[in-house]
Amino acid sequence: MIEMQDVWKTYPDGTHAIRGINLKVNANEFVYVVGPSGAGKSTFMKMIYREERPTKGQIFVNGFNLEKLKPRKIPYVRRNIGVIFQDFRLLPKLTVYENIAFAMEAIEAPKKLIKKRTMEVLELVKLKDKAASFPTQLSGGEQQRIAIARAIVNNPAVIIADEPTGNLDPETSWGIMNLLEEINYRGTTIIMATHNKEIVNTIRKRVIAIEHGQIARDQARGDYGYDD
Ligand code: ADP
Ligand code: ADP
Repeated sequence: MIEMQDVWKTYPDGTHAIRGINLKVNANEFVYVVGPSGAGKSTFMKMIYREERPTKGQIFVNGFNLEKLKPRKIPYVRRNIGVIFQDFRLLPKLTVYENIAFAMEAIEAPKKLIKKRTMEVLELVKLKDKAASFPTQLSGGEQQRIAIARAIVNNPAVIIADEPTGNLDPETSWGIMNLLEEINYRGTTIIMATHNKEIVNTIRKRVIAIEHGQIARDQARGDYGYDD
């Protein structure tokens, strides 16, 4: 599903963010990415959704080599990856419905399908009654559920979640985790960077620890392993 072969990333200012990562993630895995601030977690995630390009090495997502991708294949690969952020990143001037439908319009899905599928994912995240609301009218947890609905609306093979519970209280965070687990159970691979020790140590999954741009630890049913 995802493979990295000797991946390096040096930013233009000379910062060595990722230094020689080799990794395989199989379809349907749920992987936590942990590690200290500045270790390279976000850079690692950004390279998977092609927000950043590696300085060296190869990255494969769903069988496509991201470094040898023909331009016409880029939209296809993009729609196979849903991304969720700590700060939700919903469009404030669009309603909840429009925020989700927009992701389908972007890939030129048929209008009828857009309506059906948007309502379907709103149902899944249990926010059908908020379809006409604007993001600012929702709680943080509700906004994140909308962001998740948007991330899954095009049926991606992979969800990349960069600290999805970072701005949420513990109870709301458990609700978000239950939703991500359900999405994973339905067949979507999930890669989640997190500082949430309690979640990692309770809902046991594969844990990859990144330190100084390298994989310091890779455990099948791992623990958080840090004090913070
Ligand atoms: P983490 O997500 O683990 O906190 P990051 O991937 O954000 O780590 O950062 C890894 C290193 O790369 C840090 O030293 C950070 O300051 C640096 N870095 C991140 N983004 C950039 C950038 N756009 N330009 C230069 N350096 C960056
Ligand atoms: P609901 O959304 O059904 O009201 P939540 O999912 O928010 O409930 O969870 C309520 C409480 O149950 C949380 O505060 C948390 O302590 C606990 N909880 C929920 N899911 C888990 C889980 N997967 N592992 C451990 N505790 C959980």
